[in-house]
Amino acid sequence: MTDIPKSHPRYASLVARERVAEGVKKGFTSSQGLIAQGRGECFDYLLGERTTPSAEAATTTAAALLLLAARPALSVNGNVAALAAEEMVALAGSLRIPLEVNLFHRSEERVKKIADLLREKGAEEVLGEKPDATVPGLEPARAPATRGGIYDADVVLIPLEDGDRCEALTAMGKKVIAIDLNPLSRTARKATVSIVDNILRAVPHLTDQVRQLSVYPRSDLERMVQEYDNEKVLRQAVQEIQDHLNRQFREDAS
Ligand code: ATP
Repeated sequence: MTDIPKSHPRYASLVARERVAEGVKKGFTSSQGLIAQGRGECFDYLLGERTTPSAEAATTTAAALLLLAARPALSVNGNVAALAAEEMVALAGSLRIPLEVNLFHRSEERVKKIADLLREKGAEEVLGEKPDATVPGLEPARAPATRGGIYDADVVLIPLEDGDRCEALTAMGKKVIAIDLNPLSRTARKATVSIVDNILRAVPHLTDQVRQLSVYPRSDLERMVQEYDNEKVLRQAVQEIQDHLNRQFREDAS
C-alpha cells in the first residue's frame, strides 16, 4: 500500500481508497468498485466525513430491526470485503448469523476469494458459494441467492448496494437496511432503513448498537421501529449536508 502520512487531512479517505484498490489487485473487488468508492467519497466529503445525527438514528433502528428479525441476513460484496471484512465478521458474530457473498458482477472465483477472506477474518459460516434460489425481478446473472441466507431472510443488510437489488428484495416482502453515503440513491430511497454513513464508521457503530440493544425488551425495539420514518431521516441527511457546507463557507469567510 502507498505510505499515507497520518497527518494528511484526508487520511481515512485515502486509506479506504487504497483498500479498494488493493481489493481490485487481489481480485475480490471489481474495477467498477473503484467508481462506486469515488461516488461514496464525494458524499462523505459533503457530509463532513462524520456520523451525523440522522445516521445515528438510522443505525439504532437498524440494530433494533436486526434483533427483532426471525431470520436476518448480511450481504457482502467486493467493496464491503475490501473495506470492512473484519467489521462485518464482528457484526455477524454479535447476531450469531452467517454472512452471504452477494455480487453484482458475479464470478465464482471472486465469490470464493471473498468467502475465503471472510473465513480468514474469523467468519464461522459464509454462504453464497452454492446459491440454490434466485431473487425474482433481477437479471439471471445477478439473481442467485441462498436459502437459509438472503433468499428467505425477513431482514437483510445490504451495504453499498445498487437500487435494483434493493427494490427486488423489498418486493419479496423483506425489510431492507442499506448503508449508503448517497441519501439520494435509489437504494437509500427504497430501503426500509437507510444508514447514510461511511461503511467504515457505520458497521462498528451498528455492532455496538446491536450489543447495547440486545438486553432491551422486544416491545421497546418494536416501538423504535414503529416510530422510525426513513423519508424524514433522508431529508435530514440532505439538510445535514447543506448545514455542513454553510458552516464551511462561513469559516472560510471569517
Ligand atoms: P442506486 O442504484 O442505488 O441509485 P448507484 O447506482 O449509485 O446507486 P452503485 O454505483 O452501485 O450504486 O454505488 C454504490 C453506492 O455505495 C453509492 O451510492 C455510493 O455512494 C455508496 N458508497 C460507496 N462507497 C461507500 C462507503 N465507503 N460507505 C458507504 N457508502 C458507500
